Amino acid sequence: MHRILDDPRVRALEAEVGRERIKRAAQEVLGRVRLSPNAEFETIVAAVVNAAEDLRRTSLRSVVNATGIVVHTNLGRAPLGADALAAVDEFGRGYCNLEFDLATGERGSRYTVVDELLREVTGAGGLAVNNCAAAVLLVLDTFARGREVVVARGELVEVGGGFRVPDVLERSGATLVEVGTTNRVYIADYERALSPRTALILRTHPSNYRIEGFVAAPEAAALVALGKHAGVPVVEDLGSGALVDLTEYGAPHERTVGEALTDGIDLVTFSGDKLLGGPQAGIVAGRSHLLARLRNNPLLRALRLDKLSLAALAATLECYRNESVRERIPIYRMLSTTPAELRARAQAYAAAVAAATIVDTSGYIGGGALPQASIASVGVAIGTSEPDALCARLRFGDPAIVARIEDDRVVLDLRTIAPSDDERVVARLAQEISGSPHKR
Ligand SMILES: *Cc1c(COP(=O)(O)O)cnc(C)c1O
Repeated sequence: MHRILDDPRVRALEAEVGRERIKRAAQEVLGRVRLSPNAEFETIVAAVVNAAEDLRRTSLRSVVNATGIVVHTNLGRAPLGADALAAVDEFGRGYCNLEFDLATGERGSRYTVVDELLREVTGAGGLAVNNCAAAVLLVLDTFARGREVVVARGELVEVGGGFRVPDVLERSGATLVEVGTTNRVYIADYERALSPRTALILRTHPSNYRIEGFVAAPEAAALVALGKHAGVPVVEDLGSGALVDLTEYGAPHERTVGEALTDGIDLVTFSGDKLLGGPQAGIVAGRSHLLARLRNNPLLRALRLDKLSLAALAATLECYRNESVRERIPIYRMLSTTPAELRARAQAYAAAVAAATIVDTSGYIGGGALPQASIASVGVAIGTSEPDALCARLRFGDPAIVARIEDDRVVLDLRTIAPSDDERVVARLAQEISGSPHKR
């Protein structure tokens, strides 16, 4: 056992997997091996290394995102900026006035900070909960339980990760009233659907789904006018929640929170970790009297945001307030990197890895926004007879690299790789491709 645990190949995995887990893996391997008395030491070590690597793969690990998808839901969406991380560090380490009013020495509200920041950034106050799904659920539960919600048929989408608009509606106890057809809906359709039981008119962002061609939908302002006339709030689930104009980053236009509020939408819901560039959170912004009702719903207690996410969200919103989004929020830093800058970095890859060629690629914003809209990017492509196998080895290695396959080549898009990771990614590629022995 000692010989196994002291073997350098096993020790190399100790920091990540932990000595105790390696020991258990070794015991398990030895138990198996006892049945075959001639097993060689090398075979045993290899089996222990394999078992430890399996453990490492299934634990939460940081990965290099070489997909070019900036907000990648499966890779944890938006990376946090330095301000958010500093806030998490500070408030996680000690105590803070989360629900304590320092002026009076009495109980305060955890919802004040974000409300005030949102007011400055978007012009409307807001409330932050666990995620956007929770925000939508809270809105529906508060206003529409046992009543009707009017939604266009073409907006009854599944966003991914199990968020389906009709199902969330059903869960909240609201009755769905579908209007229009899959491709076309008119204001008259909404008008006809209104009844004394109508609680809300809901507009949802179709996210990663698009109908094109013979389509029609009323302008948000027309829905707002109808809602006002009928005394029914109009809610818009924006999902991505861009607070800035994406055309400034060379991306197509994406409806912003500010635009929805300017259109007169009563409540807007959006995520904290998509185009806002912050932690997982769901935000409801809009009219104060409606927000007050959300705050009084007992369900809020179950959906509330924890102090670390709250601290990270507040720090991220500060970047909007002091107009340092481009410099201080990682996804916007990535989006504002020019192809020329990416190309310069790609040259270092091509110089170190003979099989790598520089290619123009299409990056994506991701996170449910702008599904087809690509942003010009630069990557390196590696020709290989077995692209799937190379991709797998890159995922299994250290650092774990998630690349994509295009035209039978393995492509690493540089836009989503942090420049500070370039060196170790290059080293890993060189090691993999020069054919030097890799484990497994
Ligand atoms: C992503 C998305 C959601 C879910 O957001 P989470 O923060 O992941 O809960 C809801 N609605 C729309 C339109 C979305 O794009």
